[in-house]
Amino acid sequence: MADFHLLITDWYRQNKRALPWRSTKDPYSIWLSEIILQQTRVDQGTAYYLKFVTKYPTVRDLAAAEEQEVLNLWQGLGYYSRARNLHATAKFITNELNGEFPPNFNGLKQLKGVGDYTAAAIASFAYKEPVAVVDGNVYRVLSRIFDLETPIDSTLGKRQFAELAQELISTKDPDTHNQAIMEFGALQCTPSNPSCEVCPLIGMCSSFKNGTINLRPVKSKKTKVRDRFFHYLVFEDEQYVYIQQRKEKDIWQNMYEFPLIETSEKKTLINFEPYTDIPPIKISEEITHILSHQRIHTLFYHFPSTELKNKNELMEITKEDFVDYPIPRVIDRYLESL
Ligand code: SF4
Repeated sequence: MADFHLLITDWYRQNKRALPWRSTKDPYSIWLSEIILQQTRVDQGTAYYLKFVTKYPTVRDLAAAEEQEVLNLWQGLGYYSRARNLHATAKFITNELNGEFPPNFNGLKQLKGVGDYTAAAIASFAYKEPVAVVDGNVYRVLSRIFDLETPIDSTLGKRQFAELAQELISTKDPDTHNQAIMEFGALQCTPSNPSCEVCPLIGMCSSFKNGTINLRPVKSKKTKVRDRFFHYLVFEDEQYVYIQQRKEKDIWQNMYEFPLIETSEKKTLINFEPYTDIPPIKISEEITHILSHQRIHTLFYHFPSTELKNKNELMEITKEDFVDYPIPRVIDRYLESL
């Protein structure tokens, strides 16, 4: 399998994108980039990465930040539990490990929010430890080259692909090898229309030979997505608006939002108890926001703030100050559309 390594790293040297985290061996910067890239594509992730390393150049700087400040910087990436884990892990490394990242794969895996993939990425990129990364790109590339039918979301599939990736990795150059296979999946062996006609691995690609490219990788389960229906009530005047903090253990915990009524089915609300008795002066178009296991269908209803009956638990803030609060992306999207 030396051929595989040589061909893919040669391709990588000629085709790789210049990404800021590729020029560092600092485990903190690599960890930041990996956590951000779990949330978003490379183009958007680059901007977030640069914001984070500029504001918090070291793990100690991140640990010393206020949680709200970290959530604000994270805003737009979704999945705020990851931002909280990021912050908690920075504090743990600073306070318990004297600001030093664990020096190997097994140690890195003990960190909160760091699984096999992230630990392998940091250990190989920062320390040249020969541990293979297995992400969606790696599953696709290996399933096609070896024409593997085992579902990648089965226990057996996970084990088989992890073992195969580990057999293939170069012990001398594990960092380039891992970067190369992921970049190859992102740019060349893409989910639809891979560039087979100009592929240096075509000679060893079994699914090309067998005509099964579009069937690889195989997945056994479909993710169940739950539909939820959110009705946000915007009580406002020229200057002020009312918001609340999400306290429940649910999506967007601790973030801020307008008063909310949730329904179990799709409908336009006519009853706004306990907040007001009057009909809204404006209702938005529906905005749908898709999370990994939930589809949030959202409507915004506008009312004059003088009609708000029940102010319990609500905060009156100026519209200008609203941007200083971490808010769900769907509200951000709505405000941008106004
Ligand atoms: S020949 Fe096509 S399917 Fe096979 S590795 Fe190359 S790009 Fe992927």
